[in-house]
Amino acid sequence: METIEVKIGNLAIGGRNGILVQTMCNTHTSDVDASIAQCRRLYEAGAEMIRLTVPSLEQVESLRRIRQALRDEGIDVPIVADVHFSSEIAIAAASAVEKVRINPGNFHKDHEKARAQFAKLVEVCKEHGTAIRIGLNHGSLGERITNKYGNTPLAMKEAVMEWLDMCTENNFYNVVVSLKASNTYIMVEAYRLLAAQMQANGTVFPLHLGVTEAGNGDSGRIKSAVGISALLSEGIGNTVRVSLTEDPENEIPVARYLSDRYGRRLHSTMTSLKIENGCATATYMAPSKERLMLDFACDFGKRLLDKELDEVILCGTYVDEDGRTQNLDGSEYAAYLADELMQAARRRFYRPEYIACPGCGRTMYNLEKTFNEVKQRTAHMKGMVIAVMGCIVNGPGEMADADWGYVGEGNGKVSIYKGRTPVLRHVPEDEAIGKLTELIESAQAE
Ligand code: SF4
Repeated sequence: METIEVKIGNLAIGGRNGILVQTMCNTHTSDVDASIAQCRRLYEAGAEMIRLTVPSLEQVESLRRIRQALRDEGIDVPIVADVHFSSEIAIAAASAVEKVRINPGNFHKDHEKARAQFAKLVEVCKEHGTAIRIGLNHGSLGERITNKYGNTPLAMKEAVMEWLDMCTENNFYNVVVSLKASNTYIMVEAYRLLAAQMQANGTVFPLHLGVTEAGNGDSGRIKSAVGISALLSEGIGNTVRVSLTEDPENEIPVARYLSDRYGRRLHSTMTSLKIENGCATATYMAPSKERLMLDFACDFGKRLLDKELDEVILCGTYVDEDGRTQNLDGSEYAAYLADELMQAARRRFYRPEYIACPGCGRTMYNLEKTFNEVKQRTAHMKGMVIAVMGCIVNGPGEMADADWGYVGEGNGKVSIYKGRTPVLRHVPEDEAIGKLTELIESAQAE
């Protein structure tokens, strides 16, 4: 899909440019040394753009220092400020970095004031050559929009279009857009609607793709690959972020794979495919487990999401970590990957569905360890949607349709949510997983 070209520091997104790989630090931005070190590692791992959270005005200064230290080392990767709940911070950050991400759902409570503040932000961006990402998330749609359109892909598209209209009214086009959701179906539909609307309107802004709160491990990778590849295969998407609840360095190889594959520099290792009565039998000769998993997710994610297929059987071989060739035909591993793929495409749920944020400078506890423990203790709760979120500021709003949520409050305390309602507050961290599982089990027993 042809888009306008947007300049972000020394980079250009959209137009005829390739698919850029980006990620986000999970350090505290106020810890300048740790943030510089992580940015350096992410850059060396291949990140082409790096985002850091800016929870307070004081941290705008930290951001300036981080960016300057990287420039002094000759690292010219564009730096992005991630701003929630404060238009003032967004305006201040716009003179410090190459791009500011705002969330329309929480830019300003009052819509009219939001318009005025956005115009101020645009002025500063014009003055400094800064780009803006209108970064809308399914979980944080404002009430004004959901009252009108429900919590739907259409609502996401409509909400973003209001902000893109504000950009054009202010004659500002240095803009990238995202419409992320943890639910791959909602995410893909929202981006498709937006792409069609922008084409109809005649100005197509570049799109940043991502499945938000995808979790970690194989499931996080498969879910991300399913959603992102479905869109890239249709020519929708100009930059990708794979959000994993892991070290952000781990996100880069997955994002790079997606960029290479849909930039036509990489082909699937599938060697044959038979389809009969909605069931595909796919044979692979994959050089590694990771490659098998990503090829499989990209080859079949879109077809499952779009209900072109109902089932996929995985056959063939892959090379394991010790260099041995493993046979997939009828194996437990092939069945597991097929189950994970069906769940990522929301066609069959064989275990609980997890929503977990990747963590950022707002996270106040060991998110990855906690998430792994929650998964272990709730593995039998098939059908439940369980969220593990890093902070109380953004976590509850971003949990979208979770049945239960574990939300870090800071200071060693946790809030437990049932749907959108906090049912327990200030639970000590070492008791919180036990309380969460007790609550779910007693609700199931009712
Ligand atoms: S929910 Fe997670 S990723 Fe989002 S702001 Fe909070 S800690 Fe950061």
